[in-house]
Amino acid sequence: MKVAVIKEAAPWERRVALVPEGVAKLCGAGLEVLTEAGAGDRSWLADEAYAEAGATVLARDELLAAADALLMVGPPDARVTAALRPGQLVIGLLAPLTSPDLVATAAKAGVTAVSLDLLPRTLPRAQPMDALSSQASIAGYKAAVLAAGEFGRFFPLLITAAGTARPAKVLVLGAGVAGLQAIGTARRLGAVVTGYDVRPAARAEVESLGATFLELTSVGPAAGEGGYARELTGEERQAQQDELAGHIGRHDVVITTAQVPGRRPPVLVSADALKEMAAGSVVVDMGASDLGGNVAGSAVDQTIVTENGVTVIGAGRLPSSMPAAASAMYSRNISSLLLYLVKDGELALDLSDDLQAGVVVTRDGSVVHPALATPAGGAADVDGAAD
Ligand code: NAD
Repeated sequence: MKVAVIKEAAPWERRVALVPEGVAKLCGAGLEVLTEAGAGDRSWLADEAYAEAGATVLARDELLAAADALLMVGPPDARVTAALRPGQLVIGLLAPLTSPDLVATAAKAGVTAVSLDLLPRTLPRAQPMDALSSQASIAGYKAAVLAAGEFGRFFPLLITAAGTARPAKVLVLGAGVAGLQAIGTARRLGAVVTGYDVRPAARAEVESLGATFLELTSVGPAAGEGGYARELTGEERQAQQDELAGHIGRHDVVITTAQVPGRRPPVLVSADALKEMAAGSVVVDMGASDLGGNVAGSAVDQTIVTENGVTVIGAGRLPSSMPAAASAMYSRNISSLLLYLVKDGELALDLSDDLQAGVVVTRDGSVVHPALATPAGGAADVDGAAD
């Protein structure tokens, strides 16, 4: 099996799907690895390092023509999708729940599309493949560091001859993988940290990191399926925003990480809440995406300063800003999944296996994932941009 690593499509993407360590692992398992020239450049990984690890470095067209499997981080661009061949395997964070066009294209092309973001993460054997967690963990760390860098005062309590600085008050909204990492990092930097989530299970995790758990009286527990949060009703959303506004105004830094799989991220920091914050406060919106964000008015990869002097950073692409760490972890995730799907050097799919059934989106010209397939085998209506 020839496994190819392509250069990422998105202009802002600095990660690469496989690092040289992963090349050596796949070659050791009897696979042949091809890498696109320059694939690792933006993660400071030279073609020579890939070649030394056992890969053959090729130009894109040659690579696409030879590949049995394509490994990527984000979804492929039009040039790659146009070159897909029946039977090819495509693995990446394909965001199928919010990309019905890509799902339909993959089915039409007859490729086997496998998406890491659909991995059943609670299965113990899925842990080494959990790219959502590895990347969220990086993002949470970077969000806290970014906030500290932008904040015009100290995070820790500092007693000096020139006076005493009180510690920063940091509020983290959404305490999943990213939120907990942001909480831990802000705590290590010396801030006084509060965490909030709609899942009741988050309380113990927040408190175990030495932070205070914020409980709202107006919104009840909202745990959904598979350990995720459920989407709140319109009434709950409004009550949550209103009650959070008072708490937000009492903090110097707010980091938001709230997501609901396949849906538009909930707005937790309203325009009114931003007005409650003091000049010099910093808000990092990790939920910022093309679907919208957790903070009113935030936009992905943009920093805005409100009229009352609050800096709002739309930081939806943080893993890409730490490409060396993010690529190394992603490489372990994707190579573990690939080796799980391969036997004796060939793809050996078994959709009676719950892990495999969880990640395989299309196969033999049909959409096969239960969350996406229609009875006719076409792509379901998967517009994730809920109101
Ligand atoms: P996520 O990225 O989907 O969402 C981030 C956080 O936002 C979640 O904690 C969610 O509860 C919260 N959230 C959503 N809507 C909210 C709202 N309106 N207000 C406040 N908070 C809101 O979540 P994630 O980090 O991917 O983790 C989701 C769950 O999966 C967690 O329970 C996590 O512990 C679990 N998980 C388990 C494993 C495992 O079992 N090995 C691995 C990874 C994650």
